[in-house]
Amino acid sequence: MESRKDAVKAATQQQFDICVVGGGATGTGCALDSQLRGMRTLLLDAGDFASAASSASTKLVHGGVRYLEQAVKSFNLEEYRMVKSALHERRYMLANAPHLAHPSHFLVPVYSWSKALYYLVGMKMYDAVAGKSNLFPSSFLSREETLRRMPGLKAEGLRGAVAYSDGQFDDARYDLAVVTTFAEAGGTALNYARVLAFERYPDGKLSAANVRDAVSGAEFVARARKFVNATGTGADKVRMLANPQLDSRMRPSKGVHLLFPTDTFPGNDALLVPHTEDGRVIFAVPWQERLLVGTTDDEVTPATRMIVQKDEAEYLLRQLNPYLKTPLHREQAVSGLAGLRPLVAAQGETATSKLIRDHEVELDKVSGLISILGGKWTTHRLMAQDTIDAVQRELGQPPSPSPTRQQLLAGAEGFDANFATKLEKEYALPADVARHLSGKFGTRALKVLQLLNENTEWRSRATAGVPVIQAELVYSIRFEMAETIEDLLARRTGVQMYGWREALAVTPTAGKFLAREKSWNSAQEAVAVEEYTAKIRGFLNELGLSQGVGT
Ligand SMILES: Cc1cc2nc3c(=O)[nH]c(=O)nc-3n(C[C@H](O)[C@H](O)[C@H](O)COP(=O)(O)OP(=O)(O)OC[C@H]3O[C@@H](n4cnc5c(N)ncnc54)[C@H](O)[C@@H]3O)c2cc1C
Repeated sequence: MESRKDAVKAATQQQFDICVVGGGATGTGCALDSQLRGMRTLLLDAGDFASAASSASTKLVHGGVRYLEQAVKSFNLEEYRMVKSALHERRYMLANAPHLAHPSHFLVPVYSWSKALYYLVGMKMYDAVAGKSNLFPSSFLSREETLRRMPGLKAEGLRGAVAYSDGQFDDARYDLAVVTTFAEAGGTALNYARVLAFERYPDGKLSAANVRDAVSGAEFVARARKFVNATGTGADKVRMLANPQLDSRMRPSKGVHLLFPTDTFPGNDALLVPHTEDGRVIFAVPWQERLLVGTTDDEVTPATRMIVQKDEAEYLLRQLNPYLKTPLHREQAVSGLAGLRPLVAAQGETATSKLIRDHEVELDKVSGLISILGGKWTTHRLMAQDTIDAVQRELGQPPSPSPTRQQLLAGAEGFDANFATKLEKEYALPADVARHLSGKFGTRALKVLQLLNENTEWRSRATAGVPVIQAELVYSIRFEMAETIEDLLARRTGVQMYGWREALAVTPTAGKFLAREKSWNSAQEAVAVEEYTAKIRGFLNELGLSQGVGT
């Protein structure tokens, strides 16, 4: 990716065809599609890329078995179509970045024969809806096979499990891979660049955006022929900046996850808890050497805080523990995530869990703003395709074919299943480090490792117990626009997901690398370290967890 300085210069000086506002899954998808169709594109995000919902997901590339059940029970054709198109998108998402996304087996444990039949028929329907895009056929597993694959399940009364397939991915790194691919195709991407207002032509159509660069504090004007609003839960604000007469459309809902050490529930398969007290499902999935448990679905109110709260943690454990041989406790959690789903309101619908996760492209005739609302990570490519088709129509051109179905993302070129083993051998790396580098950077791991020619000490782990090496910190600052300690530890290297305490341990090192690469003075470094430390301590305190590694 070009340096942030060059990106600011381009954003300020060039006239773009399209300016995409929002650098989550939806916005990065739109930017890539637009740039690959030959339009000069600018991508702006108010914070870091993927810093909102797009790094807080359950990390599933899926159609949604629960949505299929809802569609069948309520004869909802719209929801059925949404599941079907998500299942097709699943295939492209896995194929375009195999280092970041892979098929997994999900087990639904059953404690009665009637439930076994119900879930098996349901999963066979899920296979059938996927058609050619199906990953593996679903099947019934005996009690013995189920316990062999999931030894942590409660055995008492267990009849077996229904196994089905879906995808899993690394959401934050997937977003960054899309941004990198976009930038390498000639696009300009800029994080920490908030759109504050729009300028207009005499006919009322948008001509430019006033943008605040949070890194320098400066404001600039970004000019484009069309503006795309892909700001997730921020969509209403941007819509109203463009046209104050518009009504609000968004109905955000909060979802949280907790992460536990994998030995608390060993095995390689994901668990689907088929029924919660509020009629949903939750997942416990092995992810990045941890067990990811989630999620909740709560309407956003003025009191909502973007942090995992005790009652939310207790809720998750209350749903999961009846299925476990040894119950999990809140105190065993090592990290967590909180995010807001950008759901679109539906008339007469009360619960956010019932809202359909479909997307909608909205054209505001007054300002010409095109907003892409709703959707989910799995359908981000299709959402982008629909949006850029609408943009081209608005520009008076017939939509050209979207090139993103078979567009390999950065790190996927030359990647294969043996890549981690090759890294391990050629660079004499510990197996866990090679696996981590391969899984986060794909073949771009070679570029990370090239930095060792500059300083061999960057081979060292960022802190004991995590497979992250120091060279990754340098790489992410130089080539991935990491501007803060959180950018480095939460989204670029994933240290924060290995554990909040591990993140605290790496904070001083991350601060030092940022200070050196960005020529910060010691006061700037101290503020960065203090801010991030306070944030992570806040997360630990909220759940009543101890502060030190191994305490
Ligand atoms: C708890 C949870 C679990 C989920 N699980 C899954 C799952 O397993 N699978 C799946 O497919 N989907 C899942 N989703 C849904 C998925 O994560 C979201 O649909 C998707 O990430 C939304 O992406 P987005 O780009 O629309 O929004 P966001 O990721 O929220 O991005 C919007 C961006 O716009 C920026 N922005 C806002 N205002 C401005 C402005 N004025 N100027 C510039 N930038 C601005 C923000 O900084 C932000 O980065 C889940 C969501 C949640 C919350």
